[in-house]
Amino acid sequence: MERLTKNRERVKEILCNSDHPLTAYDISKECPEMSLTTIYRALDYLVRNGHVKSFTFNEYTYFLPSERHEDFFLCTSCGRFFQLEHCFASSYEQNLREKGMVPKDHLILITGFCSECNEKLHLQTQM
Ligand SMILES: [Zn+2]
Ligand SMILES: [Zn+2]
Repeated sequence: MERLTKNRERVKEILCNSDHPLTAYDISKECPEMSLTTIYRALDYLVRNGHVKSFTFNEYTYFLPSERHEDFFLCTSCGRFFQLEHCFASSYEQNLREKGMVPKDHLILITGFCSECNEKLHLQTQM
């Protein structure tokens, strides 16, 4: 793979070191020396060249290394990601292959409230 510039290398490293997807803003907290514009430009390059993949949810765009296979639960209250322990995508992929499709990648995102947030919400409604 081609050599990356320092900024691109740094952005990719931050994504690789994180165990969950990050927004450009999350990345900027890790490297305050880089402007958001620089980070967006680096991300744009990394996505276009296949180093990084992205998805958008609730107007936020999240980034993660493209080689990583991850499926998540996202708490829409506190914004934390939790990794799913089991991936059931291979059974869907098998079904698609039988129909002549060529599945290449997937991302499973389940949203809701984490146990902590759910507890807090329950406490609030009881008061
Ligand atoms: Zn939560
Ligand atoms: Zn999966």
